[in-house]
Amino acid sequence: MFVRLSNKTTSRDGATKYLWALEDGNSIESVFLEHQDKLCVCLSTQVGCVLARSGMGCKFCASTQDDFVRNLTSAEITGQGYGVLADLRKEREHLTLDRIMFMGIGEPLLNYRALVESVRHFMRSKCLNRTRILVSTVGIVPRVCELALEELPIELWISLHAPDDATRDQIVPMNGLYPIGDVLRAAEEYAHTRDQVVRVNYTLIRDVNDSLDHANQLAALMVNRPFRLQIAHFNVWPGSRYAASSFSSTKRFLELLRKRGIKAEYFRSKGRDVMAACGQLRRHYASPSCVPMVEAAR
Ligand code: SF4
Repeated sequence: MFVRLSNKTTSRDGATKYLWALEDGNSIESVFLEHQDKLCVCLSTQVGCVLARSGMGCKFCASTQDDFVRNLTSAEITGQGYGVLADLRKEREHLTLDRIMFMGIGEPLLNYRALVESVRHFMRSKCLNRTRILVSTVGIVPRVCELALEELPIELWISLHAPDDATRDQIVPMNGLYPIGDVLRAAEEYAHTRDQVVRVNYTLIRDVNDSLDHANQLAALMVNRPFRLQIAHFNVWPGSRYAASSFSSTKRFLELLRKRGIKAEYFRSKGRDVMAACGQLRRHYASPSCVPMVEAAR
């Protein structure tokens, strides 16, 4: 047993956060949610995010508040998926997961070998071998190119969050190492090598990246490229210095994209009442003064 369930909280909208204890006393979290009738689980790949250690963590991310401890092993990563599945099967016996998303705490491409081993393990599994695998990255360019050559059915998501380097530098410090042009070129190479689209994720943050000028620049980046744009609502967490875009700014942003001929899906975050932004649940329980929100489900 590489992960042991230590707490589980379910939000009003059905998203469930699992807190797992590791054998060395550390804890990690995963999220289960239903999206468009699909059963999805979001896995962590690190204890804390490695980017936080060097001050390169994404500024809007709750995980950056904690130190990086270590990479997870592939057994700890797959253990989260099987643990969630086992828990769900207590109520629905033959259920399986539609999507496994490497989008929890950690930068998956900076724990590359464990990521690849985990995906291979899921592919060999009798119960999860047909599950779609999604990997999200801030854009570790050499690893994106390496991943393109792996024979793995991975759908790639790029966390862009800004259409120009000056804006992205403010919220995604890794942009200093891998600027937008390089990241999107690597994503394009991935798409062409694999003959599939790459999803580009853009979280709208009030007064940071949500102006019409940003929307225009974003449209220009997307045109005639093998990308599918996903616009996400920012999940505000306690202590966050950023706020979500207003309804009217979001609407204007999406309308401008449509006018420019760019299709974008819009997502509202789930599980806000159970601290579903990455890192929040782990932080809550790492605090000695915390009070469990619900009784731990075992
Ligand atoms: S968003 Fe992901 S890569 Fe960025 S700091 Fe948070 S966990 Fe790390």
